[in-house]
Amino acid sequence: MKLLSRLLLASLVALGTGCATQPPAPTVPVQAAAANRPAPLLLISIDAFRADYIDRGLTPTLAMLAQGGVHADAMRPSFPSLTFPNHYTLVTGLYPDHHGIVNNTMFDPALGKFSLGDRKAAGDGRWWNEGTPIWEDADAHGLRSATMFWPGAEADIHGRHPDYWLPYDGKVTPDQRVDQVLAWLDLPTAQRPTFLTLYFDQVDHAGHDHGPHSPEVDQALRDTDAALARLVAGLRQRGLFDRMNIIVVADHGMASVPLANSVLIEKLIPLDEVQTVSLGIVAGFNPKPGHDFAAIERTLQQPQQHMRCWDKTRIPARLHYGNNPRVPQLVCLADTGWRITTAEHLAKHAGHISIGEHGYDNADPRMGALFIAHGPAFQAGLRYPEFPNVDVYPLMTHLLGIPADRNDGDYDQVKGMLKSGD
Ligand SMILES: [Zn+2]
Repeated sequence: MKLLSRLLLASLVALGTGCATQPPAPTVPVQAAAANRPAPLLLISIDAFRADYIDRGLTPTLAMLAQGGVHADAMRPSFPSLTFPNHYTLVTGLYPDHHGIVNNTMFDPALGKFSLGDRKAAGDGRWWNEGTPIWEDADAHGLRSATMFWPGAEADIHGRHPDYWLPYDGKVTPDQRVDQVLAWLDLPTAQRPTFLTLYFDQVDHAGHDHGPHSPEVDQALRDTDAALARLVAGLRQRGLFDRMNIIVVADHGMASVPLANSVLIEKLIPLDEVQTVSLGIVAGFNPKPGHDFAAIERTLQQPQQHMRCWDKTRIPARLHYGNNPRVPQLVCLADTGWRITTAEHLAKHAGHISIGEHGYDNADPRMGALFIAHGPAFQAGLRYPEFPNVDVYPLMTHLLGIPADRNDGDYDQVKGMLKSGD
C-alpha cells in the first residue's frame, strides 16, 4: 500500500505542473499482453450525461466511439436515479435495494447517518458490503484493478479496495484523471490493471447549477469530450486504443426544475413528529416515538400535487425498492421537474438552489443515461435498444472472463452488443 501511494502521488505531482497540451508519452514500451489475459476494460462514467446530450453535436470523441462501437438509445438507471446508488449498481449488477446504497442520504439504525459530504461514512465498508464490486471479483481471479474515482472505491468493502485508487478530490482536473489512467496502463505487465474506471463530474455540476439546457452544460460537454480526446490520443500512442474495451456510461440524466416548483413538506405534515431521513427528489420519513405515524402516512398517501408517497411495502414493483431496512418507512417521490423541500431550506440556500435535478422515476426519459461501448469485443456501428443498468455488470464480468456474483442483471439482454454473443 505504501509503494502504491508513492506511485500515485508521484504521478499526480508530475501532472500538477506545466500545462501540457499532449497526453504523456508511454513511460516504458508497452509490453505485449500475456496470452491468456483478457483485454483491458475501462469503465468511464460521465455523471449526469443524459442520453440525448450526445445529439447536441458538441462531443465529437463520443460520436466517434459510438460510430465505431455500440450506442444504446439510452440506459435506464435504477431507482432512485441518484449518483451513489447507480454507480454502485453499475459495478455490482444489484438494484440499490439489494446493494444497500439506497440513496445519497441514508440512515441505518446501527451505522447512523450517511451523506455524500460525509467522507468518513462514504469510506466505511459496512455501508457498502451488501454488494461485491467487480474490482473484488477481478482481484479474486488474479486481475488487478484501478479506479480513477468511483463511488465505493474509497470504502474498505469486505476490508478491501481496488489495487490502485485515490480518495475523491474534485480539484483533480479531467486531464489529470486521464493521465493517471494512462500512467496505470504504462505499469509493467505484472502490475498493470486489467479493469479500470474513470469518472468525470463537470456535466453534473453544470446541470444542477444552470439546468440541462444551459450554455454551461454545453461547455461542460465540450470540456469532458476534450479530456476523452486526450485519453484516445494517449491510448493510440500506446497501440491500445483498438486493443482494449471501453464502456462509457452515465449514472442518470437531468431534468429542469424551476425555482417555483417546490413542494413545501411542512405545509402538509408536522415535521417535528417524524424523523426526516432525506428531502429533495426522493424524500423519506421514519416514525418518531410518541407520535402517530399512521396518521402522517394517511395524510401523505392521499393524492398529492406534484409528488407521490408510499409506505415502503407498497412501492410499485417496477421500481425494485422498499425491502432494504435503510429505505425509510414512508417514501415520497417528486414528479419530474419538482423538488420536495421546506421554506426554511429555500431561504437558507437562496441563490444556491439546484435548477437541474435527478433522482426521479427511472422510467422518465429525462433520467435516461448515456451508454457507448467500443473495442475488440464490441460490434461496430451498432445502435442498441434501451436496457437497464443492472446489465452492465454481467457484461463486464463476461468481458473479463470471470464468474459473476449473484446479481439482478441479465447477460442475455446485452450479449447482442458483442461480436460473438455467446
Ligand atoms: Zn447530480
